[in-house]
Amino acid sequence: MELLACPQCGSQWFVSSRSGERTVFQMDGQHQPVIAQPESISEDTVPINPDQIFCGACSWKGPENDLVESR
Ligand SMILES: [Zn+2]
Repeated sequence: MELLACPQCGSQWFVSSRSGERTVFQMDGQHQPVIAQPESISEDTVPINPDQIFCGACSWKGPENDLVESR
């Protein structure tokens, strides 16, 4: 599966929020989120906002359109 990566550090893991209950996910080549543990999503979980996603490994945040193809 082709995945998109953080433009700053190259990580393929993203989170929906910096705080609280958050969704951990990856982005596939069609810019669709691939949620790591869908069974752990609850009503309190911050939904994925495609205009503001957060890198799981560095301080980058931005719209999914800024992600780069991983290599
Ligand atoms: Zn990053």
